[in-house]
Amino acid sequence: MNQRTVVITGGNRGIGLSITEAFVKAGYSAIVGARQEAGLGCRFGDQVSFVPTDVRDELAHQKLVQRSLDQTGRLDVYVNNAGLSSWRPISEIDEEFFDEMIGTNLKGVFWGCKAAVSAMAEGGSIINISSIAGKRGSANNSAYCASKFGVNGLTQALAKEVGHRGIRVNAVCPVLIPTEGLIHALKSPYGPAKGDPEAFISKFAVDNAALKRLPTGSEVAAMCVFLASEGASAITGQCINIDCGVFPQ
Ligand code: NDP
Repeated sequence: MNQRTVVITGGNRGIGLSITEAFVKAGYSAIVGARQEAGLGCRFGDQVSFVPTDVRDELAHQKLVQRSLDQTGRLDVYVNNAGLSSWRPISEIDEEFFDEMIGTNLKGVFWGCKAAVSAMAEGGSIINISSIAGKRGSANNSAYCASKFGVNGLTQALAKEVGHRGIRVNAVCPVLIPTEGLIHALKSPYGPAKGDPEAFISKFAVDNAALKRLPTGSEVAAMCVFLASEGASAITGQCINIDCGVFPQ
């Protein structure tokens, strides 16, 4: 009881797994919500609890919060990381595609924020994993961009709403990180990779990044741990790019 506690949606793989690792390393008790357990128990033992979760379901977030309170009596950090990426021209977007994208990336984050603020005390920190696509548009990416612009708007508005309670709300905006989900999405004929995700990513880094490389999941995770820390106590309502200088602002 009383150990600092973080809930991480989609903390079982990709960027989310790096976030789980970083918070465990920082001494947190972690609760991961996703649809599949994906070997978390073998990897972390009892430092990480898994709760089957579909982020589109409001009740699922309430269960994650309740698990946190039952386990340690507190909820310090809520990371809304679970998300879905898929390129498609607007002429090919139907209601099913749109609902899945917005339901996962925007509604899922919204319910996570709502559940988190219901239980957080002063000092609480909500971190939404957005994207550079929440700052600028790109072709065949309208639904994803709309969802991530929405996450950034939600982040700014909620920071203003709950700041008087000492709760901070920030977003982290990564650029391309070659996770399973990104590589799968880039294989789409509608994506920018033209059938070769690895070659596209390498060229994108050289052509666009000031540092001539792209960030790692661990670098995104390090920003999340910082945003949750006392060192970030004056930072709220920000949408911070982790992009090796692709889109300086
Ligand atoms: P992955 O596709 O590799 O992983 C997606 C994660 O989200 C998995 O943990 C998955 O777990 C979970 N998830 C997806 N849908 C649901 C759902 N309905 N309910 C619960 N969990 C769900 O993605 P990344 O690691 O690449 O991306 C993580 C976040 O970072 C996303 O929000 C993404 O938009 C964002 N991002 C990624 C970038 C990249 O280049 N990789 C760049 C910018 C932002 P499970 O399937 O078990 O449910």
